[in-house]
Amino acid sequence: ALAENEAYRGRPSVTADGAAVELAANIGSAEDAQQARRHDAEGVGLFRTEFLYMGRSSLPSEDEQYGAYRAAAEAMGSDRPVVIRTMDIGGDKELPLLELPREDNPFLGYRALRISLDRPELFKTQLRAILRAGAHGNVKVMFPMVATIGEWRRAKALLDEARAELLAEGRELGGPMEAGIMIEIPAAAMMADRLAREVDFFSIGTNDLVQYAMAADRMHPKLGALGDPLHPPVLRLIDRVIRAAHAEGKWVGMCGEMAGQPLAVPLLLGMGLDEFSMSSSAILGTRALLSRLSRTELAGLAAAALDLDSADEVRALVAARVPEAA
Ligand code: PEP
Ligand code: MG
Repeated sequence: ALAENEAYRGRPSVTADGAAVELAANIGSAEDAQQARRHDAEGVGLFRTEFLYMGRSSLPSEDEQYGAYRAAAEAMGSDRPVVIRTMDIGGDKELPLLELPREDNPFLGYRALRISLDRPELFKTQLRAILRAGAHGNVKVMFPMVATIGEWRRAKALLDEARAELLAEGRELGGPMEAGIMIEIPAAAMMADRLAREVDFFSIGTNDLVQYAMAADRMHPKLGALGDPLHPPVLRLIDRVIRAAHAEGKWVGMCGEMAGQPLAVPLLLGMGLDEFSMSSSAILGTRALLSRLSRTELAGLAAAALDLDSADEVRALVAARVPEAA
């Protein structure tokens, strides 16, 4: 299968019925971007920037961050998009440097955008670095863990402020930068119709969306079955988000693990997902799978899956109807 997948290198990601999607990579560093290019990624759908902050004794400066973001943008070239997510510290990712108090429920706590909005000086340093990297490639910015429209608006206002400051300083910036949000909290999924009016794009973070929808810690060794993204309630949330984005003419991607799972791909394709972001090594195999699928035919399969009672039933349905994915 590996040699067979190699045949898809350099080819566009299109289905048998001619629908084009973007297959992008999840990365955690500028070096990972080189790796993503080697695996023929058409873009970066998620640059997890928190690793720049972790395991060190001081916060990364604006210039240091700019260097890393610029290197990732340059590694992908001027056309391929690079979605840079602002830092997602907290939850499972600790940052002793910030001296955050211990929490009983870190996944429900002071995390990601909640910290960024509470520490605007820290946030703006990162936003300035991302905006400056925009002069060197097709960079987009994305906010993690948005629960309310107000949070998005505050983040966007700080982005606009950072941009105005940089322009006043005479800095070289790219054109207007697309700004989007992760949909990984059920509250945001339920408000996706409203959010879609204001953002440029969504990226669905199923790793967190599943744990919050199913109330099952994503790290818990005993709760693996509840963490399955094929549960119909999760599929319904995803379907809702994709429809909401498209109703406003916005694109929607997915950067949770689900996007690279062969059994999930036919369903996501049938629902109309535009961009699939995954670990680099899964890209060519997913492109091979896509080439055998028909988006038009899979719309019916996705609709049928939303109407089932359990993840097991969904799994059986996809395996029976799309044997290539099983
Ligand atoms: C997600 O929650 O699906 C996601 C992509 O973000 P992270 O895994 O970094 O929380
Ligand atoms: Mg997440």
